[in-house]
Amino acid sequence: MDNKSIKKLYNLINIESKKLKNKINLMEVCGTHTMAISRFGIRSQLPPKVNLISGPGCPVCVTPVSEIDKILEISEKENVIITTFGDMMRVPGTFSSLEEKKAKGKDIRVVYSPIDALEIAKKNPDKKVVFLGVGFETTAPSVALTLKQAKKQKIKNFFILSFFKIIIPPMIALCMDKKLKLNGFICPGHVSAITGAKIYKILTRKYKIPCVVIGFEETDILTGIYMLLKQINNNKPEVEIQYKRVVTYQGNLIAQKILKEVFKKIDSIWRGIGEIKKSGLALSKKYSQFDAEKIFSFDISYSKEKKGCRCGDVLKGIIKPVQCPLYKKKCTPEKPVGACMVSSEGTCAAYYKYGEK
Ligand code: SF4
Repeated sequence: MDNKSIKKLYNLINIESKKLKNKINLMEVCGTHTMAISRFGIRSQLPPKVNLISGPGCPVCVTPVSEIDKILEISEKENVIITTFGDMMRVPGTFSSLEEKKAKGKDIRVVYSPIDALEIAKKNPDKKVVFLGVGFETTAPSVALTLKQAKKQKIKNFFILSFFKIIIPPMIALCMDKKLKLNGFICPGHVSAITGAKIYKILTRKYKIPCVVIGFEETDILTGIYMLLKQINNNKPEVEIQYKRVVTYQGNLIAQKILKEVFKKIDSIWRGIGEIKKSGLALSKKYSQFDAEKIFSFDISYSKEKKGCRCGDVLKGIIKPVQCPLYKKKCTPEKPVGACMVSSEGTCAAYYKYGEK
């Protein structure tokens, strides 16, 4: 898309923003959106009445320290291989990280898909191979498919530590947060491709918050913001899809069916937000033989967040990274204190990489 089209979109947003009665807060709940908004410098080019806030959209960031400590404890056990996506390696637990454990000789391997982890299990029948399941509805289906395969092939030494989360419960919690005063959601493109835009209906019907599912190009994001402003000005909250080339209202029904078969909803802890009812995914009874939580025992009573880290407030949109006293001082991508600075999709990392504006 050429600069002329982008300019035109900023003009439309400007015109629409003049009709706003008050300053509004729009929240994105997807790490890829956080990065794209920072990369295109959108935040600083919007009219002053339109404030963009980042929410709990980065799966690595919302995984609490207690869950990180669990995988670190498993890595200490005999005859265990930990497999994980690379972005979890540097996330700090209470005392250490997977990267540090690996440097001390623990068998921790970065994989590109859960199928790679299953292959490692097949090649190492005398070891217990654990895959660290972190992510939202986007990542969970590939793990579900891998488990179906493991079951079919009667693999006995493959396990999942499931920290998967689902996106709608924290969005509801944020709608009810009086401090935030949210006026609209920039809904995640990837998650919605699986769940469909239908999941946001509760936000528009019950909480009267406009929702638009938006893509990741600059024009997608600007068009989506314009659509949100129009909804706010017309006082007609509804679920709209800007990202129609990928997302439908119903979503991917096959993936939804597989998720239902392999997982069950459980209460789950979100970093900075606390426990949210039915916001996590654990393995269903049918697949419980692969559940690492049932195979290994933990004592994580010592778990605690890093002193001074404000990741929780960043994830709730209460503060921007620059308001954390450790930002750019004690906390940098080279020496991260909190998960929001480690993850490639973290809000603090986005601010650090692309600038505060
Ligand atoms: S700047 Fe670092 S310490 Fe502060 S909230 Fe972000 S990750 Fe946590």
